[in-house]
Amino acid sequence: MKLEKIYQILFKKYGDLHWWPADTPFEVIIGAILTQNTAWTNVEKALERFEGNLSPERVLNMPLEELQEIIRPSGFYKQKSQYLKAVTEWFAGYDCEINEIKSRPLTDIRSELLKVKGIGNETADSIILYALELPSFVIDAYTMRLFKRIPVDAGTTYMEAKNFCERELPRDAQLYKNFHALIVQNAKEHCRKKALCTACPLEQVCQKLF
Ligand code: SF4
Repeated sequence: MKLEKIYQILFKKYGDLHWWPADTPFEVIIGAILTQNTAWTNVEKALERFEGNLSPERVLNMPLEELQEIIRPSGFYKQKSQYLKAVTEWFAGYDCEINEIKSRPLTDIRSELLKVKGIGNETADSIILYALELPSFVIDAYTMRLFKRIPVDAGTTYMEAKNFCERELPRDAQLYKNFHALIVQNAKEHCRKKALCTACPLEQVCQKLF
């Protein structure tokens, strides 16, 4: 099954979902950490507790315990508080200037992010795609589930699936942003663990390989 066809079908159904929901690139970076192993609703609760004052300076200068208390609703808050400090230090290393970071090759940015405590493939790609707006395709459990069921022969590991998508699709950050958002949306509405195939926009093209 061609990825572009899947994209077109999903886009026709859901349109542009305007991801990532954040006011600043730094908020995207923070959200990308907080969303690890939790639902987005919990991330929203944690973000609200910054009371509109979410800046790199504040995160860096805040005592760890205070940061933990703020982000408690996101779960794993002790670990995540350390990850937030680490990624903010990385960001501050570029004077918190997105364009400074973007002046470097994408592959270098990605390798650097992967060395930051708490950042794995999915978080690194989410930051690169949604905060830096550079074309780095994000894979998650929803994507792997969809590819298995349709099926899309994208391999079984994160990097296999990512490389497959980047080979198959035009290198376009906006397309990658929308596509990932559409996959998540459809996974929530239809392609759940227990699939709701009736009225799924992909039903006509899906072999439903459970
Ligand atoms: S038809 Fe069913 S299995 Fe296929 S994508 Fe839709 S919900 Fe998932």
